[in-house]
Amino acid sequence: MTTRHCLVTGANRGVGLEFVRQLLARGDRVVATCRQPGRASALNALAGDHPGRLHVLPLDVADPKSHAALAAELPLALGEDGRLDLLVNGAGVLHSGERFGKVTAAILEDSFRTNAAGPLLLTQALAPLLADGARVANVSSELGSITDAGRFGTPSYCISKAAQNMASVLLAHALRERGIVVAALHPGWVQTDMGGPNATVPAADSVRGLLQVIDGLAPEDSGSFRDWRGETLAW
Ligand code: NDP
Repeated sequence: MTTRHCLVTGANRGVGLEFVRQLLARGDRVVATCRQPGRASALNALAGDHPGRLHVLPLDVADPKSHAALAAELPLALGEDGRLDLLVNGAGVLHSGERFGKVTAAILEDSFRTNAAGPLLLTQALAPLLADGARVANVSSELGSITDAGRFGTPSYCISKAAQNMASVLLAHALRERGIVVAALHPGWVQTDMGGPNATVPAADSVRGLLQVIDGLAPEDSGSFRDWRGETLAW
């Protein structure tokens, strides 16, 4: 099989970093993006271990200027005719401690910019660099499910992930003609900084499952909402 080119956002820690590890382990070439590459010690160590196969580039997903800068820089990392076979929109933010009566516009806006506008605008900016037939994996959350909303918890997160889900469906429509498959994927309750101390799923298991789901997506699955075990979730 030819080498695949992948790009991961939020790659310096958590689920994003584990994607980078597993993609490198299976032989792919990876562009790992994060806000502060100079401080991304785990990524920089991986780059040393995989010379020429891992590029670490700056990206703030909440800043469209940063998307444009990445799109301009990417051809250098991908090579002249290089195209992305997989885009993992992994970066996300969860502002905990919100409760009714204390929700603020600033936190809603920050969550929307990062979790919803980020994946939509970045995918749009990188669309010319996606290979026909590529996969776009938007790391979502079951907390973005409107059907399953049960209580007033972390509204900025739930609302922004529900909006991200809509963005995934609209991107699926926009890119269908090129055979590009877009999916909203819930990674489980993962043992990362965001998942916290009680999380049940090791990052390695989550990402192994997510990669299996991504690899198994057929064109007709574009615009679907799955979890890391491949179960379809309610919107
Ligand atoms: P972490 O909090 O461990 O990591 C979040 C990552 O997103 C970090 O790399 C962080 O970078 C990055 N990030 C945040 N904001 C930006 C930004 N503006 N620009 C670029 N990068 C940014 O979270 P997880 O790894 O657990 O989460 C990964 C994804 O999985 C998220 O989308 C999350 O919503 C989703 N998810 C996670 C669950 C869990 O249980 N952990 C459950 C359901 C969904 P920095 O270090 O610079 O802050």
